[in-house]
Amino acid sequence: MAKRVGVLALQGDFQAHQKALERAGAEVVQVRTPEELRDVQGLVIPGGESTTMLRLLQAANLMQPLKEFGKTKPIYGSCAGAILLATDVINPEQASLQLMDIGVQRNGYGRQLDSRVVQILTDTGEIEAVFIRAPIIVRVGKDARVLARYNGDPVLVEQGRHLVSTFHPELTDDTHVHQMFLDKIA
Ligand code: GLN
Repeated sequence: MAKRVGVLALQGDFQAHQKALERAGAEVVQVRTPEELRDVQGLVIPGGESTTMLRLLQAANLMQPLKEFGKTKPIYGSCAGAILLATDVINPEQASLQLMDIGVQRNGYGRQLDSRVVQILTDTGEIEAVFIRAPIIVRVGKDARVLARYNGDPVLVEQGRHLVSTFHPELTDDTHVHQMFLDKIA
């Protein structure tokens, strides 16, 4: 049976994630309310603008339900989603769900080199990584594991049931990272 997963659909490129998850074989539900969160087995928080997404999450009363959800179910955060999952955020500091023990610096590559497409190496092969005004993961807690780096910086990290990437796999045809996330759903 197909796994039923949510994509947080308040802001950002959630439709591209929906398509990528469907290509990987999942049934996808767009999540905008605490009720919609109740019947999904995992959730993707897309890229976009983390400050805007944070405000919308607070306005939708989704912060506490998401923290609770993350205690038992997998969440994959891509780019802005990774910023929302991190325990500490700088440049500037902002609130987050604090579900992954990592520290992130927003817009870590600056304005000059803010977007690019590169090849990165993971345990299971090379994948294409699209970076768009990406954060840099500047600290990785002891329970988190780095799965891929770019230029020495961690760009794909897991901690137990959760996964983050600072790049956008939903913008390529490769479903590798989405598959990795679906494999975390029991
Ligand atoms: N720069 C954005 C932020 O700080 C993230 C960019 C993205 O998700 N592509 O929220």
